[in-house]
Amino acid sequence: MLLRAAVFALACLPAVALGWGDAGHRIVGELAERQLTPGARAAVAALLIDEADPTLAGVAKWADDVRGSEAYGYSRPWHYVNFDSLDCEYLPERHCPNGDCIVAAIARQAAVLGDYGYSRQQRAEALKFVVHFVGDVHQPMHAGLRADRGGNNTLVDFRQRQWNLHAIWDFAILNSHQPDWRIHVEELAPRPWGEDGPPTDFAPLAWALESCRAIRARAIYPPEDQRLIGRDYLERHRPFAELRLRQAGARLAALLNATLDPGRPDFD
Ligand SMILES: [Zn+2]
Repeated sequence: MLLRAAVFALACLPAVALGWGDAGHRIVGELAERQLTPGARAAVAALLIDEADPTLAGVAKWADDVRGSEAYGYSRPWHYVNFDSLDCEYLPERHCPNGDCIVAAIARQAAVLGDYGYSRQQRAEALKFVVHFVGDVHQPMHAGLRADRGGNNTLVDFRQRQWNLHAIWDFAILNSHQPDWRIHVEELAPRPWGEDGPPTDFAPLAWALESCRAIRARAIYPPEDQRLIGRDYLERHRPFAELRLRQAGARLAALLNATLDPGRPDFD
């Protein structure tokens, strides 16, 4: 019965995907929370005091929950940046007009978070945006092609239904491996970084470019005549999807430590 409920939930995914699903965003939040300095952890707790779940994991999906509302409709373009080609050339005036893209949104919200001239409510909202967007920008399809809206218009077959490629990356790759995000965190947190070492680049544009370049380098688009997504595709791409979650968690923690615990300027 539980399995049937899970399959049903997967079948009812929205037509336009929203960024790592609930699980992916929570995993990034929890991985970051574990890497906060005591000072930053205390600042986060103070900012989130009004939240039902006052943790980074607990607020990680909020930006997706509000983006369809009238009050927050302006934030819709802040969840992604779309490029003209997989050469990934970034022209701010074209790809981020008026600062309405994820690259500028992260920098802007981080600045509000670190500015004590704003009210606690404003800074708490900025924190919730930052937690979400640092997750989104590490999902390759959030820095994808304008032509198919980051994979939202590229249709694929998965489990005898029509999906789009963006949703495969938001949900299916993680969920097919481990539907319980808390168990997945325990699997990812102790994993060694491997030969590339821990992430070293701390600029939001660099994170977006990594995502965009990975789309071609890792053949994320299946060939035109092979639009059936099977377990082989999910398993082939899962290690990279998991690496992106871990990079997002480490970078989010570095950003929050530097912004909220000024004694530790490890974000530049
Ligand atoms: Zn999002």
